[in-house]
Amino acid sequence: MIRPPKPTAWQAAKVLSIREETPRVKTIRFAVSHWPGHLAGQHADVRVMDKDGCRAERSYSIASPPGTPGLELTVERLEEGEVSQFLTGRLQPDDTIELRGPIGGYFVWSALQARNPLLLLAGGSGVVPLMCMLRHRRLLGSPVPATLLYSCRTREDVIYEKELSGMVHSDPRFELRITLTRDVAPGWSGAVGRLDLSLVRTYLERLGGAADSFVCGYTGFVEAASTMLLQAGQPGEAIRTERFGSAGPFSH
Ligand SMILES: Cc1cc2nc3c(=O)[nH]c(=O)nc-3n(C[C@H](O)[C@H](O)[C@H](O)COP(=O)(O)OP(=O)(O)OC[C@H]3O[C@@H](n4cnc5c(N)ncnc54)[C@H](O)[C@@H]3O)c2cc1C
Repeated sequence: MIRPPKPTAWQAAKVLSIREETPRVKTIRFAVSHWPGHLAGQHADVRVMDKDGCRAERSYSIASPPGTPGLELTVERLEEGEVSQFLTGRLQPDDTIELRGPIGGYFVWSALQARNPLLLLAGGSGVVPLMCMLRHRRLLGSPVPATLLYSCRTREDVIYEKELSGMVHSDPRFELRITLTRDVAPGWSGAVGRLDLSLVRTYLERLGGAADSFVCGYTGFVEAASTMLLQAGQPGEAIRTERFGSAGPFSH
């Protein structure tokens, strides 16, 4: 049984660095003084002051793996999105925001206890907590086979592409399938179109037909992907889902 650490109260989180992942996505690295540690898959709440001086609060999955210094959040800028615009557009190194966490005890995975293969399904920024699981798996040298099926709109929207490709090359037990739902860039040799049942079935069978599945993204993607897992024969109790909300891009 994995015991998630107890969340902290609101505390100051100082921005150490900001890294551009894609034109619309940034990873922000924070120094948080009283961090109790976290499990892969958990999230943090952030609180910022909006332009009218009101506080706004949102949840962001933790991207950095457990046990490493600094806390990383990867944020996708949504058009007209109040907090994501602030975090990706106005926040600068040395600025401070408020943060509390880690939060969540259900959508978590620990390489220390995992026995079953891992099947991860991500839509857009839903890849963030799944990347945390993959980084944790790599850090601990877990022998558990893992597959990431990752749906993005365009090549430009693929978050962590270089790091994921590196994992594919260095780890024969890791498989990656990126599928682009919109414009396909010249030279793209990967899959095109939405995730579909035959793809899910194929990769589930390659993992031996039984896996611990984690699905994350905006609501439309999560509902479609978890239905496919059930249709492919995954028992409901082996499927865990995390929804980022219904307002984000639906086209993953
Ligand atoms: C557990 C959890 C983990 C999450 N992890 C991540 C993560 O790792 N990375 C990430 O990027 N996101 C993550 N999210 C989503 C995140 O919490 C925010 O919901 C997201 O960043 C949007 O917040 P926002 O303030 O920018 O947008 P909001 O201001 O809340 O707006 C959301 C959307 O609604 C639209 N909208 C706003 N106002 C109006 C209006 N008046 N009329 C019509 N449309 C409007 C905006 O265009 C925008 O697209 C997570 C969510 C949850 C619940």
